[in-house]
Amino acid sequence: MFQLSLTARELLQKIAKDAGLSYDSVASRVNETMKEGEGLIDAVGALAKENNLNPDKYQINATKIVDEISNILQEDYTQTLMMSAVLGQMVEAKGKDRFPVPAFFVFLELLAQAPQVPIDTKSETSQQIEEATTRVIELTTTLVSVICEWSKEGVIGVAEECPESLKDLARIVFRKTKLLQSGLWTCISCGKIVNVNTTRALMCQECDGGLRSESLSSDDLVGWERNRTGFGRTRRKNHLE
Ligand SMILES: [Zn+2]
Repeated sequence: MFQLSLTARELLQKIAKDAGLSYDSVASRVNETMKEGEGLIDAVGALAKENNLNPDKYQINATKIVDEISNILQEDYTQTLMMSAVLGQMVEAKGKDRFPVPAFFVFLELLAQAPQVPIDTKSETSQQIEEATTRVIELTTTLVSVICEWSKEGVIGVAEECPESLKDLARIVFRKTKLLQSGLWTCISCGKIVNVNTTRALMCQECDGGLRSESLSSDDLVGWERNRTGFGRTRRKNHLE
């Protein structure tokens, strides 16, 4: 077996090294191919063939990514809480800082599946939290590009190469993305499906109003998806860019 990479960046570094190319040239080639609707692994595989390398060597270990994200989410309560808030804001941001919505769906789902994180005793420095957040951004973004099938329009299904154990996760991301494309969003607080244009801070108007008057408690954030009701589990627009 080959050593599998964990993130897109590691994968690109590996092929750049093996092919004797610069990381930047590899990254821009792969980006171009992906803009055409090609998946990450296929894009890298094509580049490998071009350079007489074995495409099988350039794979991503999706299961391990999920393990690492879940571990990070269970590390520390405050950290997870702050991370949720930062990522929630980044989903709504514009331009380069925007966190891709499908990756956010992955985050929410893994957060919902995580066992209750114990209230922590140690205190993370803001730098540690920032590093953990950056790592989660990288991992979720990579994961979603591997387990979902993509086209120019964004997520269009579950990727063929998605491991069996992650197909449910990929389906959820796909379903939520599709819902969003038709203008619907599931409130991250109560789970109600509402028109995306009426949401505020990723919540429906009632929840947004409620939180504002009661002020945001930590349970609201971590309880997010866990307490959802209704038939929804989902969310908002944008593709991986
Ligand atoms: Zn709500």
